[in-house]
Amino acid sequence: MGQQAQTPMMKQYLKIKSQHEDAFLFFRLGDFYELFYEDAKRAASELEITLTSRGKGEDAIPMCGVPHHSADGYMATLIEKGYKIAICEQVENPKSVKGVVKREVTKVLTPGTWMNDKQIGAKENHYIVSVALDNAKAYGLLRCDVSTGEVSVTPGTGDWDELYEEIVASQAREAVLPPDFPARLQEQLQKQAHVVVSIEEKAEKIAAYDALIAHIDEPVLHAAFARLLHYLLATEKQALNHLQQVVYVPADAYLKMDEHAKRNLELTETLRDKKKRGSLLFVLDQTMTAMGGRLLRKWLERPLMRQSTIEARQQTVQLFLDHYFEREALRDALKEVYDIERLAARVSCGHVNARELVQLKRSLMKIPELQQQAARIDTSFLTRWFGEVESFQTLVTLLDSSISEDAPTSVTDGGLIVTGFSEKLDQYRAASRDGKKWISALEQKEREQTGIRSLKVGYNKVFGYYIEVTRANTHLIPEGRYERKQTLTNAERYVTPELKEKEALILGAEEKMVELEYELFTNVRKEVAEYLPHLQRFAHHVSEMDVLASFAVVAEANQYVCPHLNDTRDVTIEGGRHPVVETVIQRGSYVQNDIDLTGSRDMLLITGPNMGGKSTYMRQLALTVVMTQIGSFVPATSAALPIFDQIFTRIGAADDLASGQSTFMVEMLETKDALMKATKQSLIILDEIGRGTSTYDGMALAQAIIEYIDEHIGAKTLFSTHYHELTTLAESLPTLRNVHVAVAEKDEDVVFLHQVIEGAADRSYGVYVAKLAGLPDAVTERARTLLQTFEQPALATKEVAAVTEEVTEYTPVQLPLFQTDEEIARKETRTVKSGEKAVLDKICEVD
Ligand code: ADP
Repeated sequence: MGQQAQTPMMKQYLKIKSQHEDAFLFFRLGDFYELFYEDAKRAASELEITLTSRGKGEDAIPMCGVPHHSADGYMATLIEKGYKIAICEQVENPKSVKGVVKREVTKVLTPGTWMNDKQIGAKENHYIVSVALDNAKAYGLLRCDVSTGEVSVTPGTGDWDELYEEIVASQAREAVLPPDFPARLQEQLQKQAHVVVSIEEKAEKIAAYDALIAHIDEPVLHAAFARLLHYLLATEKQALNHLQQVVYVPADAYLKMDEHAKRNLELTETLRDKKKRGSLLFVLDQTMTAMGGRLLRKWLERPLMRQSTIEARQQTVQLFLDHYFEREALRDALKEVYDIERLAARVSCGHVNARELVQLKRSLMKIPELQQQAARIDTSFLTRWFGEVESFQTLVTLLDSSISEDAPTSVTDGGLIVTGFSEKLDQYRAASRDGKKWISALEQKEREQTGIRSLKVGYNKVFGYYIEVTRANTHLIPEGRYERKQTLTNAERYVTPELKEKEALILGAEEKMVELEYELFTNVRKEVAEYLPHLQRFAHHVSEMDVLASFAVVAEANQYVCPHLNDTRDVTIEGGRHPVVETVIQRGSYVQNDIDLTGSRDMLLITGPNMGGKSTYMRQLALTVVMTQIGSFVPATSAALPIFDQIFTRIGAADDLASGQSTFMVEMLETKDALMKATKQSLIILDEIGRGTSTYDGMALAQAIIEYIDEHIGAKTLFSTHYHELTTLAESLPTLRNVHVAVAEKDEDVVFLHQVIEGAADRSYGVYVAKLAGLPDAVTERARTLLQTFEQPALATKEVAAVTEEVTEYTPVQLPLFQTDEEIARKETRTVKSGEKAVLDKICEVD
């Protein structure tokens, strides 16, 4: 180690750094945060800043730095990239110590705990999760949004893959795990799900926070909570007063969808470019507050299972629909409500500034108006949403009497507190004002006394107040009264004892003023913190009001209906639409479709040309289910459906390639999930299964999967396919029905009608789609010719299906999963042959 590293300051640095190996150490040196060694090299490249060095030659230590006043942006960049940052401050005044200033890490910023509204979307939650394991038997999973203080826990059995799924599904940015967490999953989390992993050994109870979780029994959940607390206390380095009571979320309380399903259905963002625009959330989000926006997103991630709660939401939406004017007035008032939830969290962490307290006050002042409009819609809203607002009147009075309306964002420069709040502060202010008045009068007085018309009184930071006289006039100044202070090229600056005295008074008063203002402000902040639980609850009520009113607005604009929930497993949707597609295509051009999955009709096999609307039809049902179970109205003329427990999807996705697994493997993995986990109450959507492999392989698998669902699961299933051979299956499986998307042929061209009708489709229209897409005529013409030759046997098979009853030797195509290729080929030939015979027979008959 070189000499540089031996300096006392670098020794101090190395010691602190050794305690924060996994974080960038931002080491405060005067007005800069400096980084050294590897930290410096990495930060310089990540932040695109200059790498310099401390010391010279062999001794040189790599170094880079950022100014402390603009450090926020740099820190945000690193956090965004998934790094942690330990902020090491000078904890002594450098002026009052000899040698090295004492330094300490005052806070550790991590991707899961960083709270900065500018950086994180206001309408997004920001989760950190923690985990506790009970040997191999059970796990406890906890989710926390540090920016709002909300905490929830879910217990699970020893299924680690499920735990992994749950962590990914929670959209956490950081996971606090026990040391014995399976290494394989830990790696997967980091690599595939981009979750930052932190290990926290400690999970012993912390008495001070016990009240928050006392209502929950499972020890493993207590351990997950304690693990989070230990971690947060070590990173935040302050009490966690804003944590809300822990909410217990049983694993089966919500409609389950795994990550693939959520992504495929584009619930909160589009598949292709990960934007909210074009997602279901985009269509449904007419919320007025950031809190409402976050709640809606949360609801979409976790639709409900309990009928009574869904129906209660529906009834509220209906009330909002029935009272247009009151609802709009309510929403206008909501627009003025700031993010109380995050403000409350900032109050408790001591981050809140005076301007934000003014925002809080203005938000609370909207309550009477909200209350009034809500009461006009339904008086039950008063108790439901405004039960505790009375306590806010004293809070509003307090804020109104203390915090200045035009307070600055800085809390250390004064100007925070209104006149009349503190007698002492008013006295200081008067003293400062009087002093300034005296000084402004001084210029005139001195000019008159000395006869120097250009004499000026001025102020600068270094010398304070002075009297300035140009050099040409210095001979006019009175003997002995002026004391020379500073010489400029053309002028001299002076002070007088009187001026010094007033200056001391003004500066003294101002210093005391600023100190006192800060003290008064912190006291007010503490008082506000007393209201924390009330504010958090009220914030929740506001967001609920906001989301349900938003549902009404969307239902009205798009002509949705209230879906009826039944307990028969029957799905009947009339005039159904895809909520997103109908908003992006030309108005009025969406073709409505019915969905009938009643009685024994559990599965629909959907055939028809590419681009015909098959996958839109299937997604339409899944989205209708999700919308129903979050309490929203749905795009249909009427809808009745049961409550589903899970939705599984296998929809050819554009992002398969990025995951590094073969398309077919992904397809099979997702299908496996559906086959293993689905129940009679689930919805399965399988789009073109088997496309990723050879025809016979794919067809065999598709058939076997359909048969398995029929025999072992009985879930409502939509299955689209381009294997027309599969349509004969409906004859042997009573739960399976054929439907197809209709097309009309006009001359050589095809018009997609997007209408789903009963029965199997007869042809594949790929060539026409290719023509639509503008492929060269030579290609499409050639393909058409080829198609005709290829289609002969297929056509024959189809004709056979139509005349089965008359052809005794015919056996429908049955392709059990474990046949060899050879066997399948042999059987296929036989079928085609017998098919040809049948066609011939039929032709003869007609003749
Ligand atoms: P497929 O799955 O059969 O290939 P898609 O469901 O992807 O077809 O539909 C192709 C396009 O057709 C969609 O992008 C949409 O623009 C349009 N479309 C689908 N269904 C309808 C409908 N019911 N009404 C109007 N347009 C539709």
